[in-house]
Amino acid sequence: MSPVEREGSLLASCCADREKGSEAVSPVAIVWPCPLGVDAYVAAGRDVEFPRLDCPSCAEPMGLWSGYWRYVRATRRCRKIFVPRERCGCCQVSHALLPVFVLAWRLDTAETVGAVIGEVASGRCGARPAAERAGVPHTTARGWLRRFRTRAAETGVAFAALAVELGGEAIRPAAEASRFAVAAIGAAFSAAAALPGWAALGVWRFASAVTGGRLIAANTTSPCLIVGRRRFMPPVPPLPA
Ligand SMILES: [Zn+2]
Repeated sequence: MSPVEREGSLLASCCADREKGSEAVSPVAIVWPCPLGVDAYVAAGRDVEFPRLDCPSCAEPMGLWSGYWRYVRATRRCRKIFVPRERCGCCQVSHALLPVFVLAWRLDTAETVGAVIGEVASGRCGARPAAERAGVPHTTARGWLRRFRTRAAETGVAFAALAVELGGEAIRPAAEASRFAVAAIGAAFSAAAALPGWAALGVWRFASAVTGGRLIAANTTSPCLIVGRRRFMPPVPPLPA
């Protein structure tokens, strides 16, 4: 089995864990700024202190509503994590709460994906050495880069606008769209890092949070949507001392 097939089957097996039934399930997961690293999150299992969020549609408080297990690959190891669901009684819709270190529908963490994108887009190295350093198949890394490039211009514009909105530096579009997008993500993170709770997340978890985990997702809307609705500032839980 090739690494790509293996990754596909891992994702398929975790998707099969999703709860079934007549309950409406939102295709849009909510990403929360989990302060835990992957190891601590894995160790806590179902006992992570998940935040209680308000419904993104009607703003009523939601209640915990089961959940599912999925895999995440961090530092070359696949681990199983619990993803809770919260349900709005008014809308009768449940939402998955993804910890900010994962990206929706990706096996690898936001940091792993971001490290590869950051290195290659800024011209420091090619896809193959970046993939080797990250411990992922070259073909997987190429897929991330292709996806990032496809929407790099709008990603750059969205993050550049967010940087300015947060009182940060104005970034001018670079000749190369991916380079511009990475610079804009960095500028937005620098601005957000001045606010409580964000600095500890790091730049790629921040990027996952503001895009709702869909930084490189297929068939997605622009990250502007979430920024525009000001969903980029979900409640930040207190960080461990
Ligand atoms: Zn609702």
